[in-house]
Amino acid sequence: MADRRAQRIAEAIAPLRVTPGKRVVLAKDFDPGYKADFVKKKNGAELLQQGVDLLSEYQAKLAAQDTYGVLVVLQALDAAGKDGTIRHVMSGVNPQGVSVHSFKVPSSEELDHDYLWRYAKSLPRRGEIGIFNRSYYEEVLVVRVHPENLERQRLPRKVRGRDVWKRRYRDINDWERYLTDQGLVIVKLFLNLSQEEQRIRFLRRIDLPDHNWKFSAADAHERTYWNDYQKAFSEMLSQTSTEWAPWYVIPADHKWFARLAAAAIIANALIEIDPRFPKVTPAKRDELEATKVELEGAAPKGAAPDPFAAESAAATPEAGEKAGKKPGKRARKAAQKG
Ligand code: AMP
Ligand code: MG
Repeated sequence: MADRRAQRIAEAIAPLRVTPGKRVVLAKDFDPGYKADFVKKKNGAELLQQGVDLLSEYQAKLAAQDTYGVLVVLQALDAAGKDGTIRHVMSGVNPQGVSVHSFKVPSSEELDHDYLWRYAKSLPRRGEIGIFNRSYYEEVLVVRVHPENLERQRLPRKVRGRDVWKRRYRDINDWERYLTDQGLVIVKLFLNLSQEEQRIRFLRRIDLPDHNWKFSAADAHERTYWNDYQKAFSEMLSQTSTEWAPWYVIPADHKWFARLAAAAIIANALIEIDPRFPKVTPAKRDELEATKVELEGAAPKGAAPDPFAAESAAATPEAGEKAGKKPGKRARKAAQKG
């Protein structure tokens, strides 16, 4: 990994990070229409592809190392582009190494447990990238804006008081710290959409028949609570951006920029983990060599004992001359790589 590229990514995402302890007022501190001036839309697709390739490469190592997991938390208002971001950003990674969970209105079984229960059950394993499409942060967002959600949780009276949100911020910070210590790297992305862009996207969902399924009148009705949500998001960002799990606010009015930013932030987290393929131990090396001898011994009459090794050897020109034949396809590929 070129360190320059890593540094460029880290610098590009720095302005989107919420400094831990900083008091955020969303409308004042973050512009949903922001695009960095060093990147143009026409280069966006190519850069995103680079980001996607990078994620794929790192995800393979993360899985092989099997020590760290990555949790990507995605929060946003409706139509901010959560689904599209997941689709585009994760397009290159091996599906076996990724899990995605969407959280809806809690079921009665879920309401019978503590409020973090359903999220804890869905956390990624070591070696895995897990994406939460909405998350435990709904517990200080929609639940706060619509207190009847809290009623349904049937909490003991003493934790239901005025400091219930303060408690929840503390619970969440503590829980995230514990998870981080356990090897889970938590990447928190808030897609910040403007009210006007949301209006336009809702109209699009109504005007395009293929998009109708995504729209419900209830979503539009939530716009009446716009200011309450802005306040709840501002407070969430102020109270839960920590050194161990900082928030990133992604300007979401330009989809291409939002996707690029999300890819860069996730890539940065993986670069910081710096996962490696496990080293082959001497015992393992001996085992491989012994098995190799066995397999070579089992070659049928007339077959090369190890065609792959023969091709590899042929890939070096001297060896190729010696063998008096053109290198095979696999060997040519290997030679190109090396
Ligand atoms: P969608 O993501 O559009 O499928 O909608 C999911 C719905 O579930 C949204 O309206 C959320 O507000 C709602 N939701 C998600 N988590 C919770 C929660 N913990 N409590 C109440 N409602 C929730
Ligand atoms: Mg919805």
